[in-house]
Amino acid sequence: MLELRGASKSYEGAVALAPTDLAVPEGRTLVLLGPSGCGKSTILRLLTGLVSPDAGEVRIDGELLTAENAPELRRRLGYVIQEGGLFPHLTAGENAGLLARWLGWGEERLRGRLEELCALTRLEPALLERYPSELSGGQRQRVALLRALVLDPEALLLDEPLGALDPLVRAELQVELREIVRRLGKTVVLVTHDLAEAAWFADEVVLLEAGRVVQRGAYRELVESPATGFVRRFVEAQRLGRGEGA
Ligand code: ADP
Ligand code: MG
Repeated sequence: MLELRGASKSYEGAVALAPTDLAVPEGRTLVLLGPSGCGKSTILRLLTGLVSPDAGEVRIDGELLTAENAPELRRRLGYVIQEGGLFPHLTAGENAGLLARWLGWGEERLRGRLEELCALTRLEPALLERYPSELSGGQRQRVALLRALVLDPEALLLDEPLGALDPLVRAELQVELREIVRRLGKTVVLVTHDLAEAAWFADEVVLLEAGRVVQRGAYRELVESPATGFVRRFVEAQRLGRGEGA
């Protein structure tokens, strides 16, 4: 169970996240939704211990996240950062295996695991030999997902995992990613600024505005009973943008 308790973060006096309580339900997909700059990535960075809160705390399975235990607790989380974050000078396979190798896995074990995950993510295993620049955007995202899954983490944190893809590839990967998530049954926190993507993935949606949670609930609740004017405008703008009408 991932949890923020009154956790907040500012940068040079500007609030990235106001004091926030957020418990991520186990085995479900929670979507963090909101416009650019509203604090979505900050929440993921806090949950992984990559940044520490100015006040409040972060707990993983009840254990307080500290600078000391962050590296170890982080291994229980699979994290796909915005833009994928593959190292350009390593092949896809080297990227995927980096942490496992560092933890002392043998080559045989790693190869077996990567084969399994290539099947799961439908990545042609031969592509593991290529460098990120030699892969398509969709293939890079598959590698980033595969890398996040190597250590079989308890939870997956996905920061706009499909954000940089063209619409067709994106639609295809949305279908596949939801299938993968369902099959794995893991706890997932997925970040998006896209309402339709939130609807597609979410058991529950958390909508943020300027570093604050403004509504949490099922997608239907957001659409049918927006909690504030901002929620209504956010929903309407995106539905109009898709030609769904008012
Ligand atoms: P989102 O992921 O929703 O687009 P972020 O969580 O990345 O938003 O950022 C929230 C706010 O905090 C933004 O205004 C952003 O500019 C600011 N911010 C995030 N990280 C930093 C940083 N390292 N230094 C300064 N400001 C930051
Ligand atoms: Mg972000």
